[in-house]
Amino acid sequence: MKRAAKAKIPRPKPKTKRAAAQPKTADFDVLIAGGGMVGASLAAALAPLGMRIGVVEAVRFGSHGQPSYDERVTVVSWGSRRIFEGIGIWPQIASQATAIQHIHVSDRGHAGMTRMHAAEMGVEALGYVVPNRAIGQSLSEFLQASKSVTLLAPATLERLEQQSGHVRAALRAEDVHAASARLLVAADGAQSKIREQLGIGAQVWEYGQSAVICNLSVERPQPHTAFERFSGDGPMALLPMGEDRYALVWSVPQTRVAAVLAMEDGAFLQAVAAGFNGRFGRFIKAGKRQAYPLSLVRAQAQLHGRVVIVGNAAHSLHPIAGQGFNLSLRDVALLADCLADIRAAGGDPGAARPLQAYVRARRGDQLGTALFTDMLTRVFANPLAVVGCLRNLGLMGLELLPPARRRFTRINMGIAGRLPRLARGLPVAAASQLRDSA
Ligand SMILES: Cc1cc2nc3c(=O)[nH]c(=O)nc-3n(C[C@H](O)[C@H](O)[C@H](O)COP(=O)(O)OP(=O)(O)OC[C@H]3O[C@@H](n4cnc5c(N)ncnc54)[C@H](O)[C@@H]3O)c2cc1C
Repeated sequence: MKRAAKAKIPRPKPKTKRAAAQPKTADFDVLIAGGGMVGASLAAALAPLGMRIGVVEAVRFGSHGQPSYDERVTVVSWGSRRIFEGIGIWPQIASQATAIQHIHVSDRGHAGMTRMHAAEMGVEALGYVVPNRAIGQSLSEFLQASKSVTLLAPATLERLEQQSGHVRAALRAEDVHAASARLLVAADGAQSKIREQLGIGAQVWEYGQSAVICNLSVERPQPHTAFERFSGDGPMALLPMGEDRYALVWSVPQTRVAAVLAMEDGAFLQAVAAGFNGRFGRFIKAGKRQAYPLSLVRAQAQLHGRVVIVGNAAHSLHPIAGQGFNLSLRDVALLADCLADIRAAGGDPGAARPLQAYVRARRGDQLGTALFTDMLTRVFANPLAVVGCLRNLGLMGLELLPPARRRFTRINMGIAGRLPRLARGLPVAAASQLRDSA
């Protein structure tokens, strides 16, 4: 990817030929550290507001080692589709997305199961399966075309200092050595160095599992249907990718991860097929397998002076229900609302009060989604017979009680509760003008 260097960086003249090189500083209204799925989505959401936005990303977009846009796929919920529509980037993403029209949840060895259908919810799809690389490509093309966004990649934020009225960041980059911004957004992932530098702790619960991911082909595909299968070997999600292809996400106990990664393809495909009781006929081809250790991480604060923490740096969830990115995108949508209002009022993007209100407003959804995800992992991993009975009753109840099922489906679709403007498909800048004229 070609690196964009759009910021006008003042070039101080050396007083003498021997004078030491002056550090070059770029000035922004909002500087986003981390251009992964969440940081880049925030930059795209803020692009129409007319602010100077900087994105510092350690790994070049499109490069093989990019940790956010890697071999994984993401289930983008219906609610997240609406946010991407509001940002104006959905058509690019849609061209590489597979619609999920049905979700089938079952517990191996038990009768309980439930199905959710897009038609029952009156929508075209409950969500979409999108390769992470496709999300990265769409976001980086969008950001490069934006006049208000400066992409600095590869560039690393090394240190930060909060000063009166702005944050100053030391960067390791080719031609910019420092940046100053009125607001810094830390979107630097679950191991956030910025969180650490600010002295913000994080609660971490290890699941003792890794998600093994792999693309597969099957003999008898079931188009546009995603499967969530709970079994003693760990939950397996099979996500449709078009024709006979599926993406597998298998949560494997840590003690078995090395063995599962080392299996011959044939044995691996058989183990997956056994999990689904022959529903797909034979599993034919397996792509490369990769493992991601799983933990629940929650930062103890999401605001520190002029620094807001988002994405995995703020909360990182088990991928069992495909909620982590979708939750973060709802954070992004509300933060964009908040900054649009500040901008419309000619205020300071790093002002404490509106940012505190943003953090408070997101608390319920963040806690609810983390508890929901964590409860699923614990209830379905529990080998006690009585817990098995209760979870089967729960699945049957969802199947037999349409109002309960619809409520559950709305949570999965990311459209429960009060929604930020972007999540209602409204462009963020226009929406703030609407509010002003109200
Ligand atoms: C196996 C698996 C499957 C998943 N499936 C789903 C799903 O289906 N649906 C869903 O909603 N969620 C899913 N998730 C969760 C989702 O992947 C995360 O929520 C999302 O990747 C978080 O993005 P992020 O941008 O916050 O962090 P990251 O993806 O970790 O990106 C952080 C970025 O910051 C950069 N960076 C780090 N430090 C610095 C620095 N000092 N300076 C500059 N740049 C820096 C990194 O290079 C990186 O690009 C899944 C997760 C896993 C593990």
